[in-house]
Amino acid sequence: DAAINRIAAGEVVERPASAVKELVENALDAGARRITVDYADGGKTLIRVTDDGCGIAPDDLPLALSRHATSKIDGSDLLNIHSFGFRGEALPSLGAVGRLSIASRVAGGEAGEITVSGGQMGKVRPAALNGGTIVTLRDLFHATPARLKFMRTDRAEAQAISDVLKRLAMAEPYVGFTLRDISGGGEGRVTFRADAESGDMFDALHGRLARILGSDFADNALRIDATREGLHMTGYAALPTYSRGSAVAQYLFVNGRPVRDRMMIGALRAAYMDVLSRDRHPAAALFIDCDPVLVDVNVHPAKSEVRFRDPGLARGLIVSGLRHALAEAGH
Ligand code: ADP
Ligand code: MG
Repeated sequence: DAAINRIAAGEVVERPASAVKELVENALDAGARRITVDYADGGKTLIRVTDDGCGIAPDDLPLALSRHATSKIDGSDLLNIHSFGFRGEALPSLGAVGRLSIASRVAGGEAGEITVSGGQMGKVRPAALNGGTIVTLRDLFHATPARLKFMRTDRAEAQAISDVLKRLAMAEPYVGFTLRDISGGGEGRVTFRADAESGDMFDALHGRLARILGSDFADNALRIDATREGLHMTGYAALPTYSRGSAVAQYLFVNGRPVRDRMMIGALRAAYMDVLSRDRHPAAALFIDCDPVLVDVNVHPAKSEVRFRDPGLARGLIVSGLRHALAEAGH
């Protein structure tokens, strides 16, 4: 029922940035090459994600909004998660906590649109759309005053949206991203833009790093490429001279998913222990990739923790891989 849906939804959607994360992950799952995120009032009144992905056929729109109808998990799959979407509850959750509308078109098909508000689904209507999908979420938490109260200032929520989008953009350098604040109406103001990168993985990531952390950082970062027993780490890490006063410039990914994991952050810190003072933080974009059975990234839907089957192995890879690169650079 609607109340239970709203409670469950709160687990997935804590604030505008978590809605943006779910919607952009869906666009990535749909194979989008260009994703635009518009928001107003820190995402509280409006979030709109436009993509050029595969789209949803009109008949499938009600299904996409039904809880667990699309979950790709069955018992056997639990440790074998490849795509971002595996819970099948982001859209139903958003439809329970805001006014959600999805307009979509599959190549060669008709465009359709569906709206859900307060968990009540409308009928599929014809829409005008060239292709891809536009998901619009209005008035997040309008029916949940308790949650509304916990939202921070527009500025803080906008900052969180930008941070989430940059994390996703770091992991997908071949996809173009645009973030626009349309609070004032009209064309709005582009607050972040990263065009699709090309070249090999390191080239593409280097270009994306320069967009997100600045070319000064990217041009002076250590290239990381290390392997230990089935765990592979690639990316870039800062020279000690390019460290920062905070840890916000640490971008960590496991099998393509942005994570904030204590063990990994601790390992990063440990690797730099001898070359950085305690109040400095190395900027880094590190990707650990492995067979999905070696790691569980589904510890909690709204958090981004990971559980490696062998945490010591993962820690060892991060510490030794970074120390090796630092030593090669003379540190
Ligand atoms: P999940 O991503 O876990 O499957 P969601 O509730 O996030 O669950 O999305 C439900 C389904 O709707 C997806 O599995 C997908 O089939 C479809 N969908 C959602 N967003 C998009 C999109 N932007 N483009 C194409 N299909 C989408
Ligand atoms: Mg999803």
